[in-house]
Amino acid sequence: MNKQGYYGQWGGAFIPEVLYETFRELGRAFAEVRHDPDFWNEYVQLMASYSCRPTPLTYAANLSDHFGGARIYIKREDLNHTGAHKANNVMGQGLLVRRMGKKRVIAETGAGQHGVATATMAAKFGLECTIYMGEDDVLRQRPNVFWMEKMGATVIPVTSGSRTLKDAINEAFRDWVTSMDDTHYVFGTVCGPHPFPEMVAWFQSIIGLEARRQILAAHGRLPARVFACVGGGSNAMGIFQGFLDDPGVELIGVEAGGHGVDTGQHAARLAGGDGSAGVAQGYKTMFLQNSDGQMRDTHSVAAGLDYVGVSPILSDLWEKERVRFTAATDREVMAALELTMRREGIIPALESAHAFVQAFKEAPAMERDEALIINMSGRGDKDIFTIADAFDDPSWKQFIINKGRAYAAD
Ligand SMILES: *Cc1c(COP(=O)(O)O)cnc(C)c1O
Repeated sequence: MNKQGYYGQWGGAFIPEVLYETFRELGRAFAEVRHDPDFWNEYVQLMASYSCRPTPLTYAANLSDHFGGARIYIKREDLNHTGAHKANNVMGQGLLVRRMGKKRVIAETGAGQHGVATATMAAKFGLECTIYMGEDDVLRQRPNVFWMEKMGATVIPVTSGSRTLKDAINEAFRDWVTSMDDTHYVFGTVCGPHPFPEMVAWFQSIIGLEARRQILAAHGRLPARVFACVGGGSNAMGIFQGFLDDPGVELIGVEAGGHGVDTGQHAARLAGGDGSAGVAQGYKTMFLQNSDGQMRDTHSVAAGLDYVGVSPILSDLWEKERVRFTAATDREVMAALELTMRREGIIPALESAHAFVQAFKEAPAMERDEALIINMSGRGDKDIFTIADAFDDPSWKQFIINKGRAYAAD
């Protein structure tokens, strides 16, 4: 990354002039803690006492036997407080807010997971908290709205535009313009204007640091491949950073293939060739947009992957071919979810199950003494109604996997 926050040609900070000083202040505060080992130690301690870190690396013996290829390990980010890797980012930013002496936080949320994590952090640190959420999402995600409010946050339904995530982001920036003196914007993923991608990636790097140490202890050498699902890209960047400098470790990002990357109903920005370079929401990356730069509607069974943009850091790693990108369809995700529940007694989030799909496709052809890691970004409890509906209409059953054979693709 250069000084202006560019990763190759990607990233930057395309922000209104009134926010320049706020971003400069944030950049300075972050640069200070980044080089302060005491701050990182405080962060690790907090995550240990409040969020079950280090999360385990689980050897999936039954799945490994089932596919008969690589040894399959699962990094258990689902065991974080609030059920996903999002806790790493929000608790880190909470410590930063305390350093900066601000009293109030705001955040955007789509499915509500980042909103719940932020409201949790605000309650713990005694901060005032406002969450912006598209009106449609407020109606779809009642349980998350309920918990945010019970933890003391104010949830503001956004009625502009398509009344979903990207409108909530615009509204949160509007708030920040008038409130920056006492307010911090807790951005939810490795996207947005510099320094957010760098900052969120740094907090999430705790996943990769642990995973590298754990796989060396469990397997005696580095994994051959590491798989992670990619929405904005924060859980993927988190685990990938543990292995970026190891050329022998292949890194695979799995995007939402929705109904199929050739149907137009998906959220694959880097895999499949539908994405194109653009500038929106304050940064340059690969977006799903039409020819005059209008953002397209995306689709995924997993709300957390349903986003038009992707981390500028991942756009760069894609362009440099350091990370390979693929997509998994909604139906493949259901099949992988069922297999993982039945064989291991583990319920991945719909988002995380995308990474499982690709690992299952590749594991059989790998050597018995090779290891792969799947980053399980979160737990599936939140998806109970979506999963139940899908089990009522099991058209995906034809994709069920045969023992020892490659995972049957759509
Ligand atoms: C939010 C979420 C994601 C997507 O976000 P990234 O920034 O791509 O990690 C993935 N998995 C789970 C469980 C989530 O809650």
